[in-house]
Amino acid sequence: MQEAEIIEIQSGENFHFDCNQRVRCFNDCCCDLTQLLTPYDILRLKKNLGISSSVFLDRFTRQHSGPQTGLPIVSLKPRDPIHRLCPFVTSSGCSVYPDRPSSCRMYPVIRSVSRIGLNGKAIVKYMLIREPHCKGFECKRGRNVEEWIFDQELILYNQHNDAMAAFISLKNSNAPGRLPGNAQDLFHAALYDIDRFREQVFVEGRWAALLMGDVPVSAQTDDEEMLKLGLRVLKNFLQRTDLNI
Ligand code: SF4
Ligand code: SF4
Repeated sequence: MQEAEIIEIQSGENFHFDCNQRVRCFNDCCCDLTQLLTPYDILRLKKNLGISSSVFLDRFTRQHSGPQTGLPIVSLKPRDPIHRLCPFVTSSGCSVYPDRPSSCRMYPVIRSVSRIGLNGKAIVKYMLIREPHCKGFECKRGRNVEEWIFDQELILYNQHNDAMAAFISLKNSNAPGRLPGNAQDLFHAALYDIDRFREQVFVEGRWAALLMGDVPVSAQTDDEEMLKLGLRVLKNFLQRTDLNI
């Protein structure tokens, strides 16, 4: 079996790739699923489906805690155990296309971000993954990675995902090792189950000691604001030397 090839690509460098309903392999990449979801992916998908984050997580995902960190890890639950089809793939394509996850948008480009120091300058590198089953590279259309990111409407996704990556670095630096059990519930709600978190903050009055400062009223209705508020609460939690809630 042919192996996938990974090639580094420079900013501004053209590559030839396109994906549309006319490619021979249409939908081939929406099976054999092992797809992690970011907090912003979930926000977009649950909005597309018109359901709450709790229902989305229950119906469409698998969840567990990272064994080393205790951080929640959420992935899409395949529709069947053999082909491991994505729950959203149909014969005419992706049923959640305008809100598909960042990894679906980015493919075949891999974007890696590293930082010098915790708040240091981000260094972004790009790679292309060429998998034998993917015929998109036979297309003639040329684009560079910046054009690809723009065309795939990834700018906002990358902003949220970079904020999440920076937060994970902070957690691993301030609180290395496994989070205590009660903190895992807070992290799960604040990052992935934002409708539940919203209710905890605005209805049940929980996490008052961790809110510290003005709570934006817009977070009551705006999911992006709620996600930012969640990260703020978790960062405040990580400042606690005893890591107690
Ligand atoms: S979300 Fe859409 S594009 Fe992504 S794997 Fe599922 S069907 Fe394919
Ligand atoms: S061209 Fe590649 S990305 Fe597009 S459907 Fe085929 S396998 Fe998937």
